[in-house]
Amino acid sequence: MIDFHAHLDLYPDPHSVVRRCEELGIYVLSVTTTASAWEGTAALAHGSSRIRTALGMHPQLAHERKHELPLFQRLIEKTDYVGEVGLDGSRESKPFWQDQMDVFTEVLDTCSRAGGRILSIHSRRAARDVLDVLRRFPAAGTPILHWFSGSQKELDDAITLGCWFSVGPAMLASAKSKAQIATMPRARVLTECDGPFARQKDQPLHPWDVADAYESLAAIWEVPPSEVDRLLHHNLKSLGCSLHQGRLSVNTDK
Ligand code: MN
Repeated sequence: MIDFHAHLDLYPDPHSVVRRCEELGIYVLSVTTTASAWEGTAALAHGSSRIRTALGMHPQLAHERKHELPLFQRLIEKTDYVGEVGLDGSRESKPFWQDQMDVFTEVLDTCSRAGGRILSIHSRRAARDVLDVLRRFPAAGTPILHWFSGSQKELDDAITLGCWFSVGPAMLASAKSKAQIATMPRARVLTECDGPFARQKDQPLHPWDVADAYESLAAIWEVPPSEVDRLLHHNLKSLGCSLHQGRLSVNTDK
């Protein structure tokens, strides 16, 4: 199984979540919300071959943590993965829009100078703006829009730009999202849980809950769940190959 966006450091007992992921052989992208959280979160995965820790600056914390940008710039050499980064256009975050823009553009500029990274990107109520900023930094790496919730037009533009998508059980509960997932290129889809923020039945989701997403994807793609697993692992491998490309790849595969 693959969980390409989980906040391992924010579970009440992160070590037990890591152990269970190890037992189940789950590939995890462990994202962070601040640069200062990276070293401690990376230590959680020490000795684990399937967990990668991404360096993040969450848009909802941009105004409080922009002073951590120099630390972000120092740590970028230590990881191939960046996230959670992006923009948030919701009412609570809109007052800090300029801080969010400053942080996100600086993050993408840093990634470009470092030769490109794999990026897990937040775009709630800000898909259009995220795409506009990504276009300005074609060497930033491979963008993965996590829990995409924009319009179909925005999705089409993201696909044209070369974006990937990570989708999870919470997102798959929405009929609109299911219809959109059907239009995403299968070769650019990964699964995620986004726990412990994302919840289902009033419980925080865990990396192993991506199994629920596998069933939904099997129905959407009209293939057996075993084929979903094969496709996703193939995608994870090709994403790894994109690491050293260092640019957005505009492709038309479906
Ligand atoms: Mn998240």
